[in-house]
Amino acid sequence: MRILVTGGAGFIGSHLCERLLDEGHEVICLDNFFTGRRENVSHLLDNHRFELVRHDVTEPILLEVDQIYNLACPASPVHYQYNPVKTVKTNVLGMINMLGLAKRVRARVLQASTSEVYGDPHVHPQTEGYWGNVNPIGIRSCYDEGKRIAETLMMDYHRQNNVDTRIARIFNTYGPRMLENDGRVVSNFIVQALRGEGMTVYGTGEQTRSFCYVDDLVEGLMRLMNTEGVHDPVNLGNPSEFTIRELAEEVMRLIGSKEEIKFCPLPQDDPRQRQPDITRAKELLNWTPTIPLKEGLKKAVQYFEGRVKK
Ligand code: NAD
Ligand code: UDP
Repeated sequence: MRILVTGGAGFIGSHLCERLLDEGHEVICLDNFFTGRRENVSHLLDNHRFELVRHDVTEPILLEVDQIYNLACPASPVHYQYNPVKTVKTNVLGMINMLGLAKRVRARVLQASTSEVYGDPHVHPQTEGYWGNVNPIGIRSCYDEGKRIAETLMMDYHRQNNVDTRIARIFNTYGPRMLENDGRVVSNFIVQALRGEGMTVYGTGEQTRSFCYVDDLVEGLMRLMNTEGVHDPVNLGNPSEFTIRELAEEVMRLIGSKEEIKFCPLPQDDPRQRQPDITRAKELLNWTPTIPLKEGLKKAVQYFEGRVKK
């Protein structure tokens, strides 16, 4: 198949491009290089089935493809809040452009949605049936509400135009090729520990997240894309839940850091707890994550060791 990956030069996108090429597909990787980098896919450039295109998804594009993975959107709060209006445009106009393309060339389209659609959840763990608790006017809203309207567009294009859609609600994912200055918690802690700096824990560190290693996530995305008839959202994440303080302690142990934790203010609207209910993914996709946090963190540490100057 010929497959388009928007945001393909980013963290998850680059791993996905790699896997799709391994499976023998042609891959068009489209990116505006806001948080992605050429370097993430430079090892793929010699492959004659791989094509890298600089393009912004807020502008229309016509390509003949069979499948579209729409990953284009900055994922770290630091980056999506840098230009919030642009984040909304990427989510809304980008989604409309990709759905228009899918409709025109009859491609199947998968949207990289997020656990952020649940906001600061009142239901725990989060099931796909939960409608969420999202602040529509806060500093996270450009991302959370952007992703929510993208889901609405996916469902409406499916119902109205019969576009073949898939919605993955991705929970916190980590691994090699996150940016050193990405700002998300796993890369921050690893980079800080490797530099001999104290880790910045926001708030008391009692808030929880559930961390999925990138290889597991990519497997889930591909299974969802290639399963027939699943148009409702599917949670993809690792249900093992940790407090942020536990994560800090695990990274300290792995790297042998002795620095004191630096407690910093908790950002506005920071969700207190988050854990995916993955019953649907297990039943429909026969998918479950296989890489425990400790093992995944080791791989991520190895990657950052090669990049971080002490
Ligand atoms: P990332 O920031 O590394 O990747 C996003 C990619 O999209 C980058 O390469 C960036 O340059 C590109 N991009 C951004 N705006 C664009 C635009 N307007 N046009 C073209 N390209 C654009 O983030 P990631 O962690 O790889 O996330 C990929 C997708 O998965 C995002 O849509 C994100 O919302 C979603 N997601 C990620 C996580 C996670 O924990 N990593 C969780 C939930 C959802
Ligand atoms: N966090 C932290 N220190 C950091 C970066 C993040 O304590 O240096 C916290 C953040 O407040 C949140 C959790 O870690 O509670 C996960 O943050 P991240 O930005 O990785 O993802 P998200 O909040 O979008 O789930």
